[in-house]
Order: sequence, then C-alpha cells, then structure tokens
Amino acid sequence: MDVILTGTGSPLPDPNRAGPSTLVTAGDSHVLVDAGRGVVMRMAGAGSLPAFLAGVLITHLHSDHVCALNDVITTHWVLTQGNVPLRIYGPAGTAQFVDRQMGALEADIGYRIAHHDVLTTPPQVQVTELNPGDSFTVGAVAVGTAATEHSPVKPTIGYRLEHDGSSAALVGDTIACDGVDELAAEADVYVQTVIRRDLVEAVPNEMMQDILDYHSDVVDAAQTASRVKAKRLALTHMVPAPNPDQYGEWVALAAEHFDGEIIIGDDLTTISV
Ligand SMILES: [Zn+2]
Ligand SMILES: [Zn+2]
Repeated sequence: MDVILTGTGSPLPDPNRAGPSTLVTAGDSHVLVDAGRGVVMRMAGAGSLPAFLAGVLITHLHSDHVCALNDVITTHWVLTQGNVPLRIYGPAGTAQFVDRQMGALEADIGYRIAHHDVLTTPPQVQVTELNPGDSFTVGAVAVGTAATEHSPVKPTIGYRLEHDGSSAALVGDTIACDGVDELAAEADVYVQTVIRRDLVEAVPNEMMQDILDYHSDVVDAAQTASRVKAKRLALTHMVPAPNPDQYGEWVALAAEHFDGEIIIGDDLTTISV
C-alpha cells in the first residue's frame, strides 16, 4: 500500500503545498482522503486520476479539506463519461455539502450534457454518511473509522486503511484523543495534521491564536505515535509550513518523544507500507 501525500498545505496559501489531501493506493484500488485545493493536479502528479478512485473519504467539512471536491466530482464525471458512480464517504453533513456542490455545478452540468452526446446524465455521486466506529471496504481496502476531536467542528471522523497486512491511519485535523489512539494503534504509518505550538504562539494574530485549541502540535503527534506504537509518524498540514532547511528542527522536536521514523511531508511524498 502506498500513502501519497497529495497535499501537505493548510488554509494558508503556499506555492509549493496543495491543500490537505492524501491518496492511498493498494494495487488498482485508489482511495482519496480529503480534497483540498489542487488535489486533482497533485493526483495527476501521483499517476492517478479521479476516474481511478474507488472512493473518497472526507474527515470533516472545513473548507481547506473539501474545497476541491467539486473538481474531483466534475473530472471523475467527464473522464468516466458519466458511466461510473463516484463514492464519497464522510461525517453527517456530507450529503448536503455534496448536494450543494452539485447545485453550484448546475450550469456546467447543463452545458456539457448539451454539448456531448455521450454525456446523458449528471455526475453520479453516491454519498454514505458515517457514524464513528463504522467499518467498510473501498475497493480492496478495509476502512475503519473513529470519532476525532476538532471542536467546534462536529462531527469529525478519522480513518484507518488496511490492505494485505499493512495499515495507515489518516486522522485529519484533531487534538490527541482516544479515537486517534485507536486508529493509529501499531499502524505502519500514522499521518497527522500538525501545528507548531511554539511558533504559532509567537504570531501576533488573534485568528492564528484560535487554532491552538483544536489541532495536534508536533509534540502531541509524537507522543501519540509513541503511546500507540505506530511504526512511522508522517507530519502534514504543517502550520506554519517549514522550509526544507527547518525540517531537521521539526524532526528533532518529534524525536524527543517518538523513536520511530519521522517523515516531514512534502507534496507527493510517498510512504510505502
Ligand atoms: Zn479542520
Ligand atoms: Zn485543516
């Protein structure tokens, strides 16, 4: 199973980091977790396309994680010529969000159906709203879920993907909590969206200070990885985003608490498990 960090950015615009998303491939089964800005472009960079997706898993409805879902839907529709449903899984509220995306796309859908004889139906999208604890399969990948903690964003869902004895925890935005511990337990890779508390605290901006109470910082992620015996910790969605010459400092901070492999995510970093 390959875990490809298709977007390691955050809401803060960055020329080198697409918005949050991760692509997991297990043979022909491609599973996308979240759909931040630029996701379709990065999927192409990873050798994938929306038409290849067995499913899309949404962690929560914060805009940075779903703002390019419309591009996934439209590109899937066009590339499959409308013949294949796109399966989307997410917390309560996902169906309404997708419905509204379809509403926003109404003019485009009409234009393309009018112009292309082979396109006869709007995008076929099948949404499944999940309850924490649900488990199911997407293609050849077994998916487990648990509640995470990103209040006031509710509900939020983290995922554990398993295939052929390998496991990856993709938990989204959350503070350390029981759900994350469950998902990341002995995982081959635990991917955590993180902030650097020390650096964010130094930013004289009230909205930046607000993010401190609902994200894991690097120390939280490392302590979780150690507590649950994850094999690798991959950091993504880093705020503030480090330059490569700062990666060593981030790794050193995590390594004070976790002695497994620590990966600082770049867009298209691939972790094979
Ligand atoms: Zn969020
Ligand atoms: Zn986020």
